[in-house]
Amino acid sequence: MIIKKLSIFISLLFSFFLFFSANPHWGFWGHRRINRLAVYRLPPEMQLFFKKNIDYITENAVNPDRRRYAVVGEAERHFIDLDVYGDSAFQILPLYWNLACEKFGEDSLRKHGIVPWYIQTATFQLTEAMRSKNKKAILRIAADLGHYVADANVPLHTTKNYNGQLTGQLGIHAFWESRLPELFADDYDLWIGRAQYQEQPAKTIWKAVAHAHAALDSVLLFEKQLTEKFSPEQKYSYTQRNNILVRSYSTEFSTAYHQALAGQVERQMRAAVRLTGDLWYTSWVNAGQPDLSLLLSQEESEEDKKQAAAEAQGWFRRLLKVRTEADDETTD
Ligand SMILES: [Zn+2]
Repeated sequence: MIIKKLSIFISLLFSFFLFFSANPHWGFWGHRRINRLAVYRLPPEMQLFFKKNIDYITENAVNPDRRRYAVVGEAERHFIDLDVYGDSAFQILPLYWNLACEKFGEDSLRKHGIVPWYIQTATFQLTEAMRSKNKKAILRIAADLGHYVADANVPLHTTKNYNGQLTGQLGIHAFWESRLPELFADDYDLWIGRAQYQEQPAKTIWKAVAHAHAALDSVLLFEKQLTEKFSPEQKYSYTQRNNILVRSYSTEFSTAYHQALAGQVERQMRAAVRLTGDLWYTSWVNAGQPDLSLLLSQEESEEDKKQAAAEAQGWFRRLLKVRTEADDETTD
């Protein structure tokens, strides 16, 4: 009897960690969707190339999450703990990485997340890849860039209270960016007009981060208010998945929260699609508008294929060594 109870407890504990740690940002679904939709915003000169490779751009939208624990320096590219810098974070944080390093030191910046600067780096790298007409690099960097942009538009990626752990709201991260889109995104209007050239990408990127951060108050507040109105039995539901009991937010609680947020998840998802398309387009213009159709016939070399396979295998092996209870959003 005791053993049975213990095993139920362990499996509950395990599923708890599984639920609250394995959910990636925006959910894999969200990241893929954002990259895919951004392709349709590109001008005809770019669209042929991107559409031919839309499956790659879509599937690889989640690569940066897959290598978060495997590659040193990766984890901090997905967030920024703005509250660490106080109320005037946007006034004191420099727009550009080199100035930020001079002011705060690189180690300290990395500790608290670097997403606004890293998106600039990726934009620059994409421009260079376009300039040198390197098909493989263009696709890889464009897919990555869409991922970081999507993360930067999630309010909980802009705070040290990234999973509600400081306010008794543990689990809110995956709730907002995975559970809500899973339930409601079918009704979102994510079709946005043509990509716009960004004269000052750094400013545009920071504006997006500021916008996401401004939405953080309601993300936390509404969940707290609703929790007071719902009993724990009403707030959560339990489902069996692969013989494991998984706890998730109930449909009723999710619906009430989604309504309280009044379109916020949809707005942030649209913002991610918009900025991804804009930065892809801006990189292409800044690279001198290379003729991408010339790259369509460029075959992937055997060496490239081998390298990609080895990379994927390497991540997998390293991931197995990671503590299973490590939170998805380790930010220190
Ligand atoms: Zn991420």
